[in-house]
Amino acid sequence: MTKTAILLATCAFFGLGACATKEHINTHSISVINAEMAPAQAPYAKGMVVTANPHASQAGIEVLRAGGSAVDAAIAVQTVLSLVEPQSSGVAGGAFMIFYDAKTGKVTAYNGREKAPAAIDENLFMGTDGKPMRYLDGIISGKSTGVPGVMAMLDMAHQEHGKLPWAGNFDFAIDLAENGFEVSPRLAGLIIMASKFGLKNQEETRNYFFHEDGSPLEAGFLRDNKPYAHSLRLLAKDVRVMYEGELAQAIVDAVHEDPRPGLLTMEDMRTYKPGKTEALCSSYRDTILCGATPPSSGGIAVQSIMGQLANFDMKALGPTLAGWHVFSEASELAYADRNLFVADPDFVPVPSRELLDPAYLKSRANLISMDKALKDVKAGDPIGFKPGVDATPEKKGTSHFSIVDKWGNVVSMTTTVESVFGSERMAGGFMLNNQLTDFSFMPRDKDGKLIANRPQAGKRPRSSMAPHIVFNKNGQFSFATGSPGGSSIIAYTAKTMIAMIDWGMSPQEAADLANVISRKGSIRLEEAGLTEEIIIGLEKLGHTVKRSKGEISGIHIIRRNTDGTYTGAADPRREGVAVGE
Ligand code: GLU
Repeated sequence: MTKTAILLATCAFFGLGACATKEHINTHSISVINAEMAPAQAPYAKGMVVTANPHASQAGIEVLRAGGSAVDAAIAVQTVLSLVEPQSSGVAGGAFMIFYDAKTGKVTAYNGREKAPAAIDENLFMGTDGKPMRYLDGIISGKSTGVPGVMAMLDMAHQEHGKLPWAGNFDFAIDLAENGFEVSPRLAGLIIMASKFGLKNQEETRNYFFHEDGSPLEAGFLRDNKPYAHSLRLLAKDVRVMYEGELAQAIVDAVHEDPRPGLLTMEDMRTYKPGKTEALCSSYRDTILCGATPPSSGGIAVQSIMGQLANFDMKALGPTLAGWHVFSEASELAYADRNLFVADPDFVPVPSRELLDPAYLKSRANLISMDKALKDVKAGDPIGFKPGVDATPEKKGTSHFSIVDKWGNVVSMTTTVESVFGSERMAGGFMLNNQLTDFSFMPRDKDGKLIANRPQAGKRPRSSMAPHIVFNKNGQFSFATGSPGGSSIIAYTAKTMIAMIDWGMSPQEAADLANVISRKGSIRLEEAGLTEEIIIGLEKLGHTVKRSKGEISGIHIIRRNTDGTYTGAADPRREGVAVGE
């Protein structure tokens, strides 16, 4: 029995709270149990890559074939996604990556979240009239761009877990940027959508996404990107070019353009550092869930839903009216806690441990009745103090990918430029993020209380990204999952866990399954995937139901089967594919 298995057995007996001794909590007090799983039975014969785009999956598998690790493949995938899916993520964005090291059994949470410039204050998005600025004005501006973190994070992970030289992992993307890729239907559709907002404002974006006559690039058009190929060559030589060289300057210059220029400086860029902690892990039935730590709320919120559902027989309930009702109520309660308490732990105390304490989660689960929907759900009070009521607006861009290499190392990474096409500005052939609009626009609530996720100099905005790696009771890798989708990421990801752990579904069935998102007093659900009996039944229980024609989840799962092979699944709502070896 491994150290963790013993720990978990003890946890199961006493409840997780009993396990949260100092020894098992890192310096930020965020790891509920020690993030160390069983070393894998190396070598694994096969690897797998699941991403939102066939080129990106191909880039990843080629790196694995060439002897690369999951982290090497993640670099290839990210650099390709930045080109073929610029609406979702890019080299000037941010990400959270969970990494399972098969040799040591360690599970690490890498944090490549953007940081706010040193010159901003809590009124970043407040107008001179004392009111928050229009959300869209905040997005389409230089004010929304934080110091990009994803490449610095990948560099850090590569130094620790790369098997191939850094530079070679850029080859696929350089080649594609030079020679062109076909604009996908989704990208073409989103260019049309964004042309109504800010995508035509800047000369670079106008020239890149539109024909000379101003019409948008159509699906199938072969788009090259020489400036991006140039940027990639620079990055391949030295990632510092993004932080103190030519690319840093290009980003800073674009941020200072009108309208609404931002305050980002070369010094902000130079001093950026990615983060790394033990992953946030908690047990669910006979599995261990490991996810991202704050400032992402994804780990806490997904595990809060699961920790509450541990008090119900989800297997017996199944994907029925009762099953979805309980799932919805646990989600509603988890979102309420997440909204109020989670922000950057370097700036505000985040009660991660208290929020995931099984006794606390049981008390939350006890609020759930089987015959009546909860009304006016509020955050709990696990620490005797409540920050101001959150006012963070939340948009949806983003991409999730999962990778396993032949050694059994696993990457589960969610990556984003925030809204669709980020701040709708480009530099060096890539999009600039608008991640700072993930802060609450208002720093205080109506009672004058400070909001945890308010803007502050050098702070990272709260995220919903929820990349997870799930282990079985022996600490062996079971599956990796995660999704884009703004704050809905939390519900999408929890759904895949319940589907696979309790409802016996395959990865594809779990990804295909209807999304049901319950937060802030209503349930939004994909009506096509649910029976009328369930939908009307939820209404009869007192839920306010909003019917969705389709969500924009992008759930990309890899499961390890009992024979050691892998099964992958790409979300049919996006354009991704799973490729294996
Ligand atoms: N910026 C969001 C976050 O970090 C993600 C947006 C999305 O998923 O579309 O939570």
